[in-house]
Amino acid sequence: KPLIGVLALQGDVREHTEGLIAAGADVVAVRRASELDRVDGLVIPGGESTTMSKLLGVFDLYDPLVARLGDGMPAYGSCAGMIMLASNILDTRADARHLDALDVTVRRNAFGRQVESFETDLEFAGITDVPGAAPMRAVFIRAPWVESVGDDVQVLATVPSGPAAGRVVAVRQANVLATSFHPEVTGDHRVHRYFVDLVRAA
Ligand code: GLN
Repeated sequence: KPLIGVLALQGDVREHTEGLIAAGADVVAVRRASELDRVDGLVIPGGESTTMSKLLGVFDLYDPLVARLGDGMPAYGSCAGMIMLASNILDTRADARHLDALDVTVRRNAFGRQVESFETDLEFAGITDVPGAAPMRAVFIRAPWVESVGDDVQVLATVPSGPAAGRVVAVRQANVLATSFHPEVTGDHRVHRYFVDLVRAA
């Protein structure tokens, strides 16, 4: 079984841990560099990206994390995790740092305020496009969207309808996966399985 870390400084660590175990991985919480050294891949959970940014500094995890991502360690970020992985962030704090592992521009809190959080069913390339597969329920909680993608980035999902129709909400670049939404809260483990398969293949 691959050993996958969940960055456990802040955010919904338990839900991701459950999703990864259901998807066939062994899981360890990562709070220090020695734990990061051991994992085959890392999930960066949802939470609050500027707080996570601060805590990465406090826990001396920035440089080790940037180094492992630079070496091609697979990573999956949901929501705040997507923001952390991105190369460019709109509407964040000037002092917030990020990991620059995914060639996208994301807009933080793009869908509006907390009360405008919403759910929708969507298609996810590589998951819902196989015969008999159900669409995926996607939960957006003060989520970012991807405003533009670099040449090497594959768009995996967009918002199907409504005011944000067409907005990009799931992307992949080589071993780095990110979703604006929270598959860890729905009990549908297909995105976690997708990531575990990616880690196995890496
Ligand atoms: N709005 C949060 C941020 O800016 C992300 C919200 C989430 O992860 N659910 O980091």
